[in-house]
Amino acid sequence: MKETDYLIVGAGIVGLTIARELLERGAEKIIILEKEEGLGFHASGRNSGVLHAGIYYPPNTLKAQLCLKGNLLMQEYCLQKNLPLMRAGKVIVARDESELPTLLQLHDRAIENGAKVDLLDEQQLAEKEPNAKTYKKALYSHYTAMVDNKAILNALQQDLLQSVRVQLLFGSPLQSLKDEFTAITPQGPIRFKQFINTAGAYADRVAHHFGIAKDYYFIPFKGIYHKLAASKSHLVNGNIYPVPNLGNPFLGVHFTKNIHGDVYVGPTAIPAFGRENYGLLKGIDKEIFNIIKNEIILYIFNPEFRKVTMDEPKKYVSRYFFRDAKRLVKALEPDWMVRAPKVGIRPQLISLKDKKLMMDFLVVKERHSLHILNAISPAFTSSLAFAKHIVDNYLS
Ligand SMILES: Cc1cc2nc3c(=O)[nH]c(=O)nc-3n(C[C@H](O)[C@H](O)[C@H](O)COP(=O)(O)OP(=O)(O)OC[C@H]3O[C@@H](n4cnc5c(N)ncnc54)[C@H](O)[C@@H]3O)c2cc1C
Repeated sequence: MKETDYLIVGAGIVGLTIARELLERGAEKIIILEKEEGLGFHASGRNSGVLHAGIYYPPNTLKAQLCLKGNLLMQEYCLQKNLPLMRAGKVIVARDESELPTLLQLHDRAIENGAKVDLLDEQQLAEKEPNAKTYKKALYSHYTAMVDNKAILNALQQDLLQSVRVQLLFGSPLQSLKDEFTAITPQGPIRFKQFINTAGAYADRVAHHFGIAKDYYFIPFKGIYHKLAASKSHLVNGNIYPVPNLGNPFLGVHFTKNIHGDVYVGPTAIPAFGRENYGLLKGIDKEIFNIIKNEIILYIFNPEFRKVTMDEPKKYVSRYFFRDAKRLVKALEPDWMVRAPKVGIRPQLISLKDKKLMMDFLVVKERHSLHILNAISPAFTSSLAFAKHIVDNYLS
């Protein structure tokens, strides 16, 4: 039987960075189980590639503590490894007068969180992003940057494998537990001392094997993107984001110029019907009934969720998507954008008891099992700092 000190389930950014941190602290034997045949099949390989900069999150949250730190560590990692990094900053614009108070609130939060931001007037905005449009004021974030998420995953994999103390087993889902120290996998049983659940969209199910997080469940939200025609990509320098609704965890459809110079518009946050429902019907299985049941409960009891379900699905229709995007910029025509093949699913943890969307990262540890639940955005940005936090507070 295989034996290990640490068994990590899920080789997304969270699992890989925790493994790396453990190695740096001297761990001798780590096995990572990944159900897919390679890296980046899910959120970590399908995101916008933006390093966020600690603006949106209330100061007492893990997101606020870890986002900016993670951003700076990830920038350093990219420089060290010679990976693409574009420090283009971002502007947050107000679509009308009603958004100004939230914009100012974001400015204050950012300062409290240590982020470097400036309030811009319309003239100053035009100097940064000539095509962005705002009502009187905009916020500029200095540290927002773009990276190549897949290149980062590959570099982390290389670090881990070079150490020879880590085994990364692809095509190896955790199937069940034989007992509290033995995992069942297609490779046979694996005996572990410490279990670490970083299974992304399946983290609730994995936690349920340990009788943990029974009151939590994931609802998937689909992020679709459109791409700006290459001839128009000069119209965006970096990132143009709207003032978000701070009552839900999504940031709203925005413009991002990626490290290749392509401008993507999105992602949406459309309630989906499967944890991997990337196509219209693809990725839907019998769990759909449970997902719909929980969506109906949230729809009835949670006004913020109700608003998301009323607004977001319309964006499947290009006309509505365009209308949403057009509110951020001066010049945009419907035929400048095409639907991009890129689709991501954001697994959002909900509390079944409180009928609430969980807004912060959630970590649960019981004896020898540790569960990272709700590694939602900005978990990619935060990952290197998150890994230090996990090892310092739970695994040392
Ligand atoms: C559309 C979109 C845009 C986003 N944009 C940004 C952004 O710009 N910046 C940012 O910071 N964040 C962004 N995010 C969020 C970010 O991508 C996620 O927070 C982060 O990738 C989560 O990482 P993870 O390792 O927890 O999950 P994942 O990347 O999903 O990794 C989990 C892994 O676990 C594996 N797994 C699941 N079950 C099992 C099992 N039973 N056995 C073995 N393996 C299993 C899966 O196959 C998967 O590879 C975005 C997310 C989406 C969807």
